[in-house]
Amino acid sequence: MARYTGPVCRLCRREGTKLYLKGDKCFTDKCPVSRRPFPPGQHGQGRRKLSEYGVQLREKQKMRRTYGVMEAQFRRYFEKAERQKGVTGTALAQLLERRLDNVVYRMGLARSRPESRQLVRHGHFLVNGKKVDIPSFSVRVGDVVEVRERSRQKGQFAVTREETGRGVPAWLETDLPNLKGTVLRLPNREEIDVPVQDQLVVELYSR
Ligand code: SF4
Repeated sequence: MARYTGPVCRLCRREGTKLYLKGDKCFTDKCPVSRRPFPPGQHGQGRRKLSEYGVQLREKQKMRRTYGVMEAQFRRYFEKAERQKGVTGTALAQLLERRLDNVVYRMGLARSRPESRQLVRHGHFLVNGKKVDIPSFSVRVGDVVEVRERSRQKGQFAVTREETGRGVPAWLETDLPNLKGTVLRLPNREEIDVPVQDQLVVELYSR
């Protein structure tokens, strides 16, 4: 599956908010969102009034870029969310949150979602005892996610909780000394701390 390989800090500056794509750098004063709080490019500092469509588009891009999903796959998530019962925006956020790369990040086993995606892609994780190397793999309630035995020696699963202040959400249970965690339940919308108005994303795709 394709992924964005360009400079990620540009994405944060474009959205005007931190998307936490770089790991440790995001928590220092070197973060370009703090240093240059305007969109990238030649006209980044010009005045700009967004249309209704523009506002909806920015919310969709922010959500999509936060989880590192390309447009076609994001649309498939939306279509799946639409078929589910309940609020479409909440269902969409839940589907994205259930991605294996996001769960590994939430558990504190990676510094950022892009790093987590790479660790999953390189086959360092087991789900219910079986190797899974698909970042978009959707976890279910009761799934146990853990680092493979042979990958444990590598030491790149540094838990950065102290530095970042990131806690583990209540829908996950972690056993960090053993580099594993369990999905206790699906997250509520309030527990998904991605600052996106998902209603605007729904409106965009319903045009
Ligand atoms: Fe975004 Fe992190 Fe880069 Fe800051 S350092 S712009 S939060 S990716």
